[in-house]
Amino acid sequence: MRTLFKGGSVASGKGVHRADLLVEGEKVAALGRGLKQEADRVADVSGCVLFPGFIDAHTHFDLEVAGTVTADGFASGSRAALRGGTTTVIDFACPDKGESLASGLARWQKKAGGQTFCDYGFHMTINDWNEAVRQELPEMFFQGISSFKMYMTYPAMLLGDRDLYWALKELKTLGGVCGVHCENAGVIDGMIAEKKAAGELSPASHPQTRPPYLEAEAVGRLLRIAQAAQAPVIIVHLTNGEALSEVLWARKRGQTVYVETCPQYLTLDESLYYQENFSDAARYVCAPPLRERREQDILWKALHRGDIQTVSTDHCSFTLEQKALGREDFTKIPGGLPGVETRGELMWSCGVAKRKISVAQMCRVLSENPAKLYGLFPRKGTLQPGSDADIVVYDPSGGHVIQAEDCASAAGYTPYEGFATDGGIRQVWLRGRLAAEDGNVLLSQPEGKYMARGKCML
Ligand code: MN
Repeated sequence: MRTLFKGGSVASGKGVHRADLLVEGEKVAALGRGLKQEADRVADVSGCVLFPGFIDAHTHFDLEVAGTVTADGFASGSRAALRGGTTTVIDFACPDKGESLASGLARWQKKAGGQTFCDYGFHMTINDWNEAVRQELPEMFFQGISSFKMYMTYPAMLLGDRDLYWALKELKTLGGVCGVHCENAGVIDGMIAEKKAAGELSPASHPQTRPPYLEAEAVGRLLRIAQAAQAPVIIVHLTNGEALSEVLWARKRGQTVYVETCPQYLTLDESLYYQENFSDAARYVCAPPLRERREQDILWKALHRGDIQTVSTDHCSFTLEQKALGREDFTKIPGGLPGVETRGELMWSCGVAKRKISVAQMCRVLSENPAKLYGLFPRKGTLQPGSDADIVVYDPSGGHVIQAEDCASAAGYTPYEGFATDGGIRQVWLRGRLAAEDGNVLLSQPEGKYMARGKCML
């Protein structure tokens, strides 16, 4: 089957240019002006921008958190992803403490296998550092896992400074990259205990016990540890200017530091936690928390300058019933927001349409950079001959209102309810097949493929 996309513009990390695109089978076959090749069908994409399928390198599907399980498993989560133009997700395999990495990976392969509608890969979580874990790492690369995740907070997951140092050093030797959740665990614990003692148990206490400077402290400390290990590192879900300053200093010292932020930190702010109604506030609980509005501007400017490399979602969805587990105690609210299906339209509407970032920059942070950082390039992240024909057809005209009832996520709500978009995603193609159109997922079978990934090339 040959499909010719005619009359549109094709985005890359370098720019956006008028071009036709020919797809043959699952691959891009040709790109150019006025392509004359014969095709079995023609997709008229006049006036639209074609992006390489978006990659969401930070999702949590089918994850146990706080005694409950995320609303989205791999089936509903990946359908939501496709609706929003995301054709590849990289989820986090998360072994229990003491469980081998191999066993954790096998469990995640089982959760995703035969369930997932988009393509997928896994990062491996390292929540324990010992000789057994060290010896397992080469096998992880063999299984297509080239990126890892460590935590500086959450007692069940966190590694101390010595273990962070040793793990980073080992990953550097093996050619892996590691994303780190940076928040100061000890002081946050202390602040939470104070709030509890004072009986201040509403969601308003959530942002107050996780202030931005305790994220910045952890970012700064991690970067000094990475300096000692002479290892590259990824700061995941960075939320604020002070944390970003730590990154800029480390880069000035010559360190390699990659930064991810998320749509919620670019578009929502902490005033949402101070709403009277419990449910209205609790639905926004995530860590790090939403910040003051002024941080959004700092993050957009950093995206514009190229100081932030990727925008992923940290999609970790819970229903409002699940969020109500913390009605009497904000620390029991399962943390996380749904967002996998709204990222593309938010980045266009709040970024490109408002001239905060260019189309090329949007392409870099949603597609090209994650593909390069996580070893998927040039199969993913670009539309050039030989690449997978994962295509987002973005129509800049018109617009619509984001509402939960249209969403495929099982969360049952969206943090972006009522948000009016600028234009919208008209079609999403996964490896040459029309996977979603006008917000409807068309694939009837979960045919997502596991992506064994290579090494970082960003
Ligand atoms: Mn996360």
